Amino acid sequence: MARPDDLYARYMAAHTAWAAHRTNCTNCRTRRPCPAGAQLVERFARLQDAYLQHQRNP
Ligand SMILES: [Zn+2]
Repeated sequence: MARPDDLYARYMAAHTAWAAHRTNCTNCRTRRPCPAGAQLVERFARLQDAYLQHQRNP
């Protein structure tokens, strides 16, 4: 089980990675995420779920 601080840090890192990719990827901004973008979205969504889950059930 990850410590909450680690989870939050990974959640933020995933968000930053996705935001940075989207900034530079027209495909991700205007259409469906490209394969690389989709991986980043999935990772971000998974960490967000885990983080929010932890917030609800500390
Ligand atoms: Zn992309």
